[in-house]
Amino acid sequence: MVELNGKGTVDTVQVALRIRPLMRQEIERGCEECIEVVNGGPQVLIKDLSFTYNYVFPQYITQTEFYDTAVKNLIGKLFQGYNVTILAYGQTGSGKTYTMGTNYSGSDGDCSKLGVIPQAVADIFDHVEEYEDKFIIKVTVSFMELYQEQCYDLLSGKERAHSIIEIREDVKKGVILPGLTEIPVTSTTKTMLVLEQGSSGRVTGSTAMNETSSRSHAVFTIVITKESRTDKNLATTSKFHLVDLAGSERIKKTKASGERLKEGVKINQGLLALGNVISILGDENSKSFITYRDSKLTRILQDSLGGNSLTLMVACVSPADYNLDETVSTLRYADRAR
Ligand code: ADP
Ligand code: MG
Repeated sequence: MVELNGKGTVDTVQVALRIRPLMRQEIERGCEECIEVVNGGPQVLIKDLSFTYNYVFPQYITQTEFYDTAVKNLIGKLFQGYNVTILAYGQTGSGKTYTMGTNYSGSDGDCSKLGVIPQAVADIFDHVEEYEDKFIIKVTVSFMELYQEQCYDLLSGKERAHSIIEIREDVKKGVILPGLTEIPVTSTTKTMLVLEQGSSGRVTGSTAMNETSSRSHAVFTIVITKESRTDKNLATTSKFHLVDLAGSERIKKTKASGERLKEGVKINQGLLALGNVISILGDENSKSFITYRDSKLTRILQDSLGGNSLTLMVACVSPADYNLDETVSTLRYADRAR
């Protein structure tokens, strides 16, 4: 990926569609698949509609194949000074967390299930080793959660109520998050431990759709600074955001009320703002002004979307017929991004 397109430029926004397999309970309930991958092209058919993306990953694609095809090349770009953002979008239960590997809790010796984050982290430290002769490389990680337009530092070690982070803008540095915990890491093991600790503090809520559905956006960020050993002026800083977005399902289907309903509205605000930003970025003819200010999610990602940044949106869908409406809505959202 990040190859020159037909116009000799780099596609800064790419969209990958990933279809998860039917789950055992779905097969037992008699669910059928309602989405078809067109042979030979990154295209899918659903009802009488057809959608084309940069990549389409059918049900049988493994975690390794997904990573090698859509993500691996981006790690090299990080070390060239680009910012990279990977976003997983889709309804609850569509495979966002599985794909991103956000709720890592040890590999149990079975590496075949590892999502994007653990695979990317291992790759990053391989690159660090390669570059270390000529460069001083520092890697730090932070982990935040956006819930009801509030930003929480998942690594602060403090109670939730005391881990709220404000977003500021600095004339020189751009978006800054004063007080956000940034932990220096020197190995894959240490990084995954940090991720694991952070994940355990996340908010989850039960809805009619999925007991452990995540109602918040999780943003895991790896910052890499690379400084030449011979010339201190030769230094780059790259940000790598790995975002496991909140479920995109519409409120009606989750039978939400009260607090849950309020959540739904705020979550959609972030997803809506993100969709708007990404669709403008993906459309080189667009003259629209990009409005990052519409949500905390887009403000945090502001300097990592567009500009010197590469974005991969992973749209996750269920193939089951009972999810047809949500699947079509995800396909449409992803289509706007391309
Ligand atoms: P989400 O984070 O979007 O709510 P999850 O990632 O938790 O969804 O996935 C829902 C369920 O489906 C989990 O049990 C997960 O292990 C399984 N799953 C998702 N994608 C795949 C896949 N590509 N292959 C096998 N199982 C998957
Ligand atoms: Mg999830």
